[in-house]
Amino acid sequence: MPLMLVGGIRAIETAERLVASQVTDYISLCRPLIREPALVNRWKSGDRRPATCVSDSGCFTPGFENKGVSCVVEERERRRTASGHPTE
Ligand code: SF4
Repeated sequence: MPLMLVGGIRAIETAERLVASQVTDYISLCRPLIREPALVNRWKSGDRRPATCVSDSGCFTPGFENKGVSCVVEERERRRTASGHPTE
């Protein structure tokens, strides 16, 4: 029976190693794709840096307010950049 693994996988090297060593057949991603919907395409294009998701689960907070699921870290960074104070 095929096995799919999820949780804490943020680097393509980790995913490849888990599949190559037959720990799992598939890798599932959740929060990294909330932060970076195009993450897999980025990895496929050759940019193999780890996901930028910081695993703080802040993306579930809007859901508790019936505002859907979104990356609050991304939103915070967008606001900082727009304010002209990207390092605050
Ligand atoms: S809020 Fe945090 S855990 Fe959720 S996607 Fe953004 S960085 Fe990842």
